[in-house]
Amino acid sequence: MSGISSQAGNSNFPLFNSLTEFNHEQVVVCNDNSTGLKAIIAVHNTVLGPGLGGTRFWVYNNEQEAMNDALRLSRGMTYKASISGLNLGGAKAVIVADKNTKKTEAFMRKFGRFVENLNGKYITAEDVGTTTKDMEYIAMETDHVVGMPENMGGGGDPSPVTAYGVYMGMKASAKKAYGSDSLAGKSVTVQGVGKVGYYLVELLVKDGAKVFITDINEQNLKHSVALGGEVISPNDVYSKKVDIFAPCALGAILNSETIPQLNCSIVCGSANNQLKEDVLHGDMLRDKGVLYAPDFLVNAGGLINVYSEYTGYVRERAMAQTEHIYDLTLDIFHKSEEEKINTQLAATKIAEERIHNVMLVKSTY
Ligand code: NAD
Repeated sequence: MSGISSQAGNSNFPLFNSLTEFNHEQVVVCNDNSTGLKAIIAVHNTVLGPGLGGTRFWVYNNEQEAMNDALRLSRGMTYKASISGLNLGGAKAVIVADKNTKKTEAFMRKFGRFVENLNGKYITAEDVGTTTKDMEYIAMETDHVVGMPENMGGGGDPSPVTAYGVYMGMKASAKKAYGSDSLAGKSVTVQGVGKVGYYLVELLVKDGAKVFITDINEQNLKHSVALGGEVISPNDVYSKKVDIFAPCALGAILNSETIPQLNCSIVCGSANNQLKEDVLHGDMLRDKGVLYAPDFLVNAGGLINVYSEYTGYVRERAMAQTEHIYDLTLDIFHKSEEEKINTQLAATKIAEERIHNVMLVKSTY
């Protein structure tokens, strides 16, 4: 009998079908009536090491949306850790909030108890909607948390390291597209100038690039204007003629509606899950002649930074490892050409190959 369960493909088992399709190891559904905590911890793959991924606090429209987010994000973490050469697996947690949910001490500590119950199989960190303060509460219940403040022995905000990795990926993309990795004189649109976007604008301006910025947050725009960014309307963000488009805000923004509007030769940014569908939209970009730097590779600096915290934090080591994103990006472009597949699929293949090879090693003792 094959390893695939007899429920596979049966519409009465939508959750198990998703787990089979994504190849997840374990999903824990957490509930606590006293604090109102409702969360999902999805552990995708622990072949390379414990699954590390942040905890997202978000208001979802329904259970299915929350589960899909946990499954997609945790799988992305597996690939990100693998391609970056880290001894980490992939996991992610989502806390399912409603507009009245309060992240009290008890609420976050209860979540910390659930993390602790996984005995180190899952390591949590900050993500959209959670803060360093939340991590401090979680740390009262478990050691399996990273992204602690610097005064508590942690690495602090990983965003500058993430931005540096994106910048390295962008330089490698320029090398491939234009024959030189200099960004001087290149025009770049940065969509979203939050924590990562801000530091990216700083690096680009310093290099002599012409930087256009867009955001829905006026305050964040002001900070990046002070660095030298020029504001453009959100309506022009895809169609603006530039050399490079850097999505640093939302996922799924590369889709059938936006790709035809693009007027750039490179897409390289920090946002997670930029392609709405890896095959369809990765191929659309390739057919249009737009070089796409895979998101889970170029935005791995933050993960490299928190991993460094787990093994004894040294910022210089994290930055040096992040610099390696330059070579990895070029390797992926090479593989994509050689195997005639889009760059996202080439990156996924490299990540899966490493996991497969390590699994073979582990099976020998
Ligand atoms: P952030 O919340 O600080 O910044 C996001 C910015 O995007 C905000 O300024 C927000 O106002 C803006 N934004 C939201 N919707 C927008 C829209 N429709 N148009 C334009 N701007 C919009 O987040 P961040 O930490 O800078 O992360 C940015 C992206 O990078 C996210 O997708 C995140 O998951 C990803 N990422 C971040 C890190 C990290 O180290 N912070 C690591 C890996 C990946």
